[in-house]
Amino acid sequence: MGKINVLDEQLANQIAAGEVVERPSSVVKELVENAVDAGSTTIDVEVEEGGLTLIRVKDNGSGIDPEDIETAFQRHATSKLLSSKDLFRIASLGFRGEALPSIAAVARVECVTSPEESGLGRRLVMEGGTVKALEDVNTPQGTVMTVKDLFYNTPARLKYMKSIQTELGHISDYINRLALAHPGIAFTLSHNGNTLLRTQGTGDRLQVIAAVYGTGVAKSMLAVSGDHPDYELMGYISKPELTRSNRNSITVIVNGRYIRSFVLNQAIMQAYHTLLPINRFPVAVLEIGMHPGLVDVNVHPSKMEVRFSKEPELRTFIEQVLKEKLGAMVHIPGQTEAE
Ligand code: ADP
Ligand code: MG
Repeated sequence: MGKINVLDEQLANQIAAGEVVERPSSVVKELVENAVDAGSTTIDVEVEEGGLTLIRVKDNGSGIDPEDIETAFQRHATSKLLSSKDLFRIASLGFRGEALPSIAAVARVECVTSPEESGLGRRLVMEGGTVKALEDVNTPQGTVMTVKDLFYNTPARLKYMKSIQTELGHISDYINRLALAHPGIAFTLSHNGNTLLRTQGTGDRLQVIAAVYGTGVAKSMLAVSGDHPDYELMGYISKPELTRSNRNSITVIVNGRYIRSFVLNQAIMQAYHTLLPINRFPVAVLEIGMHPGLVDVNVHPSKMEVRFSKEPELRTFIEQVLKEKLGAMVHIPGQTEAE
């Protein structure tokens, strides 16, 4: 008898959950990204106790077919990839088919969904990776995902959770960034019944900047845009007078996805060069569009780090577009309204 076993699905999901579901904000991220991928125009996020006791994401997107609802919770089950060709031109935020089974492995999850205007839909309850209830229901078109008692069955992970305020901070930061990335979607975020963010979904990014950072900041922003054979850039950067003590207020969005990129942050900082005092950072929201073939998003399970195939060109392009805008600023006398 050999000694090597193939892990059963439940155990495999619990292990995968260790990577995909690091903390409550990872659950929020995965659920909200699914809502965006479903073409929703409104997404409401409700959390309690920093997301540790409850996370609910409600959307008005395409919903899940009743016959697919159980499959959606299986490992590597996705409607977003069909063949390996698709992997090199990913247009959706998700594609790994790992989020739902991973979340369901470490929490109590309820999914209520309907793909129909008629409201014919289904409700599925999962606990620690097993189905607890499945029934037909009437519900508005879209999906409501409720995640309770995260990590209730993985005490080691639960022990590592920080304060409610810290966990909420991560959630709020992520929703702010996604709202900045998708001004056409109306987002709300509430914590223990208090509304923390509300965006209108009008498509006006400056409105979202006002909702996230305040109207004062929104008034100090400069619109930037640029074209390149491979890239399209648009967004807002702050006038040099408006600075922050850290780089958290820089948001870079690539093909609708909020990403973290040291190199692109550097390009932004380089554009300001001596216009910023030392150790001060701008507020910036930049959306970069490119052919999906030019960016590899399959680097890390969280999909927040990406690889650009022509990174030096992209970096130079961004720096130039921003420099031009800021250069024009410097030469206009009298434009020093400080914030
Ligand atoms: P992925 O997003 O990588 O495909 P997930 O595990 O996050 O994997 O979701 C599995 C599938 O469930 C998705 O491909 C999608 O078809 C469906 N799904 C999940 N959430 C929603 C939602 N809010 N609205 C519509 N379909 C959804
Ligand atoms: Mg997903």
